[in-house]
Amino acid sequence: ERPNSLHASDIAHSMHPYTNMRAHEEKGPMIMTRGDGIRVYDIDNKEYIEALAGLWSVAVGFSETRLADVAYEQMKKLPYYHSFAHKAHEPSIRLAEKLVEMTPEGLNRVFFTNSGSEANDTVIKMVWFLNNALGRHGKKKFLARNKAYHGITIASGSLTGLPANHKDFDLPALPVTHLTTPHYWRFANDGETEAEFTARLLKELEDTIAAEGADTIAAFIGEPVMGAGGVMVPPEGYWPGVAEICRKNDILLVSDEVINGFGRLGTPFGCEKFGFTPDILVTSKQLTSSYMPLAAIMVSDDVYNTIADHTAKLGTFGHGFTASGHPVACAVGLENLAIIEERDLMGNAARLEKPFQEGLRKFADHPLVGEVRGVGLIAGLELVKDKTTKEAYAPAGSMAARVVALAAEEGLICRNVYETVALCPPLILTEGDIEQIIARLGRALDRALAEV
Ligand code: PLP
Repeated sequence: ERPNSLHASDIAHSMHPYTNMRAHEEKGPMIMTRGDGIRVYDIDNKEYIEALAGLWSVAVGFSETRLADVAYEQMKKLPYYHSFAHKAHEPSIRLAEKLVEMTPEGLNRVFFTNSGSEANDTVIKMVWFLNNALGRHGKKKFLARNKAYHGITIASGSLTGLPANHKDFDLPALPVTHLTTPHYWRFANDGETEAEFTARLLKELEDTIAAEGADTIAAFIGEPVMGAGGVMVPPEGYWPGVAEICRKNDILLVSDEVINGFGRLGTPFGCEKFGFTPDILVTSKQLTSSYMPLAAIMVSDDVYNTIADHTAKLGTFGHGFTASGHPVACAVGLENLAIIEERDLMGNAARLEKPFQEGLRKFADHPLVGEVRGVGLIAGLELVKDKTTKEAYAPAGSMAARVVALAAEEGLICRNVYETVALCPPLILTEGDIEQIIARLGRALDRALAEV
């Protein structure tokens, strides 16, 4: 009786994010009831390996009672306090200290928000505030990339470079120029080498700056490895090149590490993987393993000092959220980072990169698969109808959606992002788990192929 009533109630009352609502009325929800390690169970007690870690975010798995315990203790002690106007509390102070210790050198200041989208909105406002402080009132544009994902609010959604997030939402709503996606396999010209592709993208960046004027462009934002647009790993030399061009043109560089941060790529942070130093680094998701909503913006001393000087003049930094640095979220974040360190989960991701990536590479020969790509513990399989022309199945994304639906039947949760089947499992993964992920995914691919 209960499952049916929940099912019917959801259909009757809920509006789901990222959902075809009419299809949902037909199909109904997949109701999850509990978690155990990397696994989750639905209302019929069917077991699934959560190979997307929720939404690319649950590092420590779905049953970490230490996080529940610290949340409870913090709730009893000081369930809520804010950090406006000189107020503070221990969890946010300790977490800021920890983040400064963990992140690359030079990022010595932290501002907390509740989500990655709010964090990127805050970044936009910080950058505008900073340029206004310097009297550079025309230096406001952002550079981003096609297929980037930086969030979903009006401002962060404008930085995002995905048509579905813009169309009929009247976005972008702020000045942003989207550049070519740094994905060699899909976007290289015929006969172009990877080095030539990188050089072309860097030239595009330089030409864009020259055409629009460096004095109009405030910042470049990018995910080191692009996630929600389809798991795209940049070519060799891309990031150092971007960083160099930004520095030369006095354009701030923002590394959006909402997915990449805390070991996902096999290094603590994505900028370390690709050898560049951002002025601003954004983290969320694995910061608390998403047990609580929290995001952290790390900024360089220069960024901080310019902003701080201006607040001294104006009397305040007129920005912040009721729950900025929420004590329960920060306490959970601290404990989560302690677990990541104690169990060396970032090291685990680095050690498992080879079996995970190589295991998945064997699907490159599968008739449905055009490219298998990824680093660390994030990967994507881009599906094609024709391996030579790389033509996708129509309608767009339909084959990836079918494979993901069949994978769920096989007890594997992954995500279809356009033509790509994405995997991003919890960092507590084991070699045995990898074998099971590959077996279940293989069955889903074969079943999808049999239907063609
Ligand atoms: N930035 C990146 C790179 C993301 O992947 C996401 C979410 O997937 C966001 C920002 C937005 O975060 P949120 O969904 O918490 O607003």
